[in-house]
Amino acid sequence: MTRAPDNPDRIWPYTIGVDLGGTNLRIAAYTCDDGLLETISLPTRLAAGRDAVVNDLCENVKKLIKTHSRSRQLVGIGVGTPGPLELPVGKLHKPPNLPGWDGFALRAELENKLEHQVAVESDANLAALAECMLGSGRAMGTDSLCMLTLGTGIGNGIILHGTIWHGTTGMAGEAGHLTIWPDGPECGCGNKGCLEMYASATALVRLARKAASAATTGLGALIRRNPNITAHDIALLARAGDEQALSVFDCAAEALGIGIANLVNTLNLPLYVIGGGLANAWDIFAPKMLAFIRDRSYVYRLTEPGNTVLDRATNHATIIQPAALGSDAGLLGACILAYNSSESRIKGMPEVNLTAS
Ligand SMILES: [Zn+2]
Repeated sequence: MTRAPDNPDRIWPYTIGVDLGGTNLRIAAYTCDDGLLETISLPTRLAAGRDAVVNDLCENVKKLIKTHSRSRQLVGIGVGTPGPLELPVGKLHKPPNLPGWDGFALRAELENKLEHQVAVESDANLAALAECMLGSGRAMGTDSLCMLTLGTGIGNGIILHGTIWHGTTGMAGEAGHLTIWPDGPECGCGNKGCLEMYASATALVRLARKAASAATTGLGALIRRNPNITAHDIALLARAGDEQALSVFDCAAEALGIGIANLVNTLNLPLYVIGGGLANAWDIFAPKMLAFIRDRSYVYRLTEPGNTVLDRATNHATIIQPAALGSDAGLLGACILAYNSSESRIKGMPEVNLTAS
């Protein structure tokens, strides 16, 4: 066992975090001092069925336990999953990214197979938690933020004073389904015109096909050559000045501007971060997005950086910026969450309050 130099009776603790995604399954051992000790990545075998995925997850968790418990003490296991997730019971309800998992008691099943307490949380909440504790929140010195993760869909997590805001049933933080245009396209959630229908990677591809349907050059030509274009392809064209590709990002910028303006007016938090793959196109959409936020949120106009209207004894500006942690955010959040599943909190570990808000 590795023992703490300042206290020979203390064994170094570690946690295991799991990022269960619709495409990839990532499992890691982690300590606060050394970060990620070892990470295992494998495809999520959804086509093989739920039991196969759960077995993959548990086998690899056990593998890490076998390796790392030789020198450290396991203090918790945390698992991030696509939602909707009912808490505290840890049960999934028609998760769009895990077809066939409706009604699955994820936490109970994992605890049964692993014979260890498991903390479960929605993946977007965990990305926000990690961003707050280890990423841009930490860099800014704040323990409260709202994060939007722009990926296949739009994830959202809200951290208030170091605590994930769960709402009554664990389903808070669904800003991806804020209504932007009431008569917009139908969303998988049953609503129309959700933010996710305009500013996710999926939405950008749909908007690109629509914008370029009659075009024979630029975006139109690209789509004819490659019907499987990605948001990354559209971003490359937009950076090269293609007007149709830019119009697609303008649409996303307006939708994000409206959505975030509503969040700023509602929450008045010090920090809003945008993560996920589309955050790499920040330079393309952010200037227009910020202009829309300024137009639509009087709270933002009063608190935007550089505004001297309010008394600023301390820094009260509203900061809106890209996330700092990249694609590891969800996995790191699961690792941090696991510290809270420890029956006895270990001195020196992050003070993360994860009780139902
Ligand atoms: Zn929706």
